[in-house]
Amino acid sequence: MLSRNPRQPKKKQIFTLQHGLAALTLILGLATVVAWMYAPQTISIPQMARAVEAGEVKSLVVQGDLLIGTTASGSQVRALKERGISAIDTLQFFSVSTGTLRALPLLIEESQSAGFDSHQILLTLTVLAFVGYLLARYPGWFQENGWGLPFFNTRRSKPLFLSGSRGGKDDKAKAPTVTFQDVAGTDQAKLELQEIIEFLKEPSKFAKLGARIPRGVLMAGPPGTGKTLLAKAVAGEAGVPFFSISGSEFVEMYVGVGAARVRDLFKQARKHSPAVVFVDEIDAVGRQRGASNGHGNDEREQTLNQILVEMDGFTTDTNVIVMASTNRPDILDPALLRPGRFDRKVFLDRPDVQSREAILAVHLRGKPLDPAISIAEVARLTPGFVGADLENLANEAAILAARRGLAVIGRVEFQDAMERIIAGPERQNKILSKLERDVVAYHEAGHAVVMHYLEYCDPVHKVSIVSRGMALGYTMPMPEGDKYLRRREAFEDEIVGLLGGRAAEEIIFNRVTTGASNDLERATKLARAMVTRYGFSQKLGLRTFGEEQGNAYLGSLGEARDYSEEKARVIDQEIDQILATAYQRAKTLLTEHRSKLDGLAAALLEVETIERSAFEALMA
Ligand code: ADP
Ligand code: MG
Ligand code: ZN
Repeated sequence: MLSRNPRQPKKKQIFTLQHGLAALTLILGLATVVAWMYAPQTISIPQMARAVEAGEVKSLVVQGDLLIGTTASGSQVRALKERGISAIDTLQFFSVSTGTLRALPLLIEESQSAGFDSHQILLTLTVLAFVGYLLARYPGWFQENGWGLPFFNTRRSKPLFLSGSRGGKDDKAKAPTVTFQDVAGTDQAKLELQEIIEFLKEPSKFAKLGARIPRGVLMAGPPGTGKTLLAKAVAGEAGVPFFSISGSEFVEMYVGVGAARVRDLFKQARKHSPAVVFVDEIDAVGRQRGASNGHGNDEREQTLNQILVEMDGFTTDTNVIVMASTNRPDILDPALLRPGRFDRKVFLDRPDVQSREAILAVHLRGKPLDPAISIAEVARLTPGFVGADLENLANEAAILAARRGLAVIGRVEFQDAMERIIAGPERQNKILSKLERDVVAYHEAGHAVVMHYLEYCDPVHKVSIVSRGMALGYTMPMPEGDKYLRRREAFEDEIVGLLGGRAAEEIIFNRVTTGASNDLERATKLARAMVTRYGFSQKLGLRTFGEEQGNAYLGSLGEARDYSEEKARVIDQEIDQILATAYQRAKTLLTEHRSKLDGLAAALLEVETIERSAFEALMA
């Protein structure tokens, strides 16, 4: 299919601002030269007097202090007299006879502001036009020297080429030196990116089979988890140039500038293809349209549209992969995520203890450690840290050791560095206290153990105390096939599973925390649905209660009540009953299997994430 043609590659721009200014400089320059050539000859006053006396001057015009004589041949001569003396007196003084003067056609004119003649104006204009031309032709030079005019700088974006080149110069496009070896603990993501690398290395292999080439990869994950690094590493592994631009750059720009830069960036990438274009922080431009308010909207929208137009313009021989990063995949415009755009997604989670160890190993390369401390131990000490934090930690610890005059980095240096980082102002990631981590571990273990022993619950796929989004930990069931009809027992068991976290907290710590609020909300919703929608309550029978209003996406706008106060009370009682029974079952199960609960919590504190097979081994 012939897709919409990208506008730029073939069509040359015939007349630009730069060309216009060059032409203007030429024209004005010529005019100045001509004006000089035909400019009247300037002579001295005595010379003028002599010429008048000799009858060579046929007429004389006086403009202020300027005497302009016209000779017999029609050419002009001019002379400047002293201010304050009349032209007649001056000529008489230089002995022009009264008779000659009387016979001379003399014209006195209003004096024009002196020194403002045509060729000086022309010369000034020429210089101005030339300066304008230089600005348009070499914006970079002026910018670098602090002379930049913003609107002249729209033509060339400054993509960052890595590997030390300064960027902007087309011939310097080189592949980054970063490779997958520098990105640790992200095996899943690397696996998913393998195909992209193969394609970049050998596009023809895919083209021969008519495969539709992947265009966009969206990398989502919390700040500092290595999204930018991984994108560079993809280009590095494939040995192709890396063009990067950040979404937040566009936000402060003039309307239309962002779109122009996007055009230019893609143009350069095509020229150097195969290549990777990286749009960092794409959420800054790719936020859902209409979701924001106020100005700046136009610019963002134009920039976003330009990115989409560029991507739609890719043909099968456009060997450019667009990678983008965001920590808010949830707010992106759906248009970005459609097939043929950013239809591949790679998620980067916060690293668990093993990944942290691998990342630390990368950043402690070449930094001698005290034999009394192992990298694994440092990894265990740093729950909640992302890659960027770990890099920072390794560096700070090394600095401290150097300042203390040590030969190796010891435990104390790591601890001190950690304190610095946790107290540092930039940290957004919450670090949990020891007790809080224990609570989270038991809470998640509670969910998992309960779910394991319930007949109608899906098997546990993964349990983790690595925080993700708003959740401090999570227990992921693996649904086995689609279910369209569920029995009452399945609902009941699901509620028991949801309450397992809270039950564990109560059993172990004999107190409860706010950590379960989302669980309680979901459990209550389920219980309410059992009673009001599915007719599972004996007391209330088969009728449904209430009509949902609003739509599923905007969130429910509430419920139109179509039942009496009395029924409302019964509904509440039934919901309470269901929840109370479920909570009791959860507590019973956990008390029965207390040793499993303790074992799982301890394992979670140790390795942080437990997959299905390891989990089942623990439960056996
Ligand atoms: P993001 O783009 O996700 O915010 P970056 O890629 O900019 O994060 O990471 C910042 C720095 O943190 C990197 O330059 C690197 O030094 C370090 N880092 C992050 N993740 C990793 C990782 N998985 N392995 C090694 N270093 C990492
Ligand atoms: Mg980044
Ligand atoms: Zn929970």
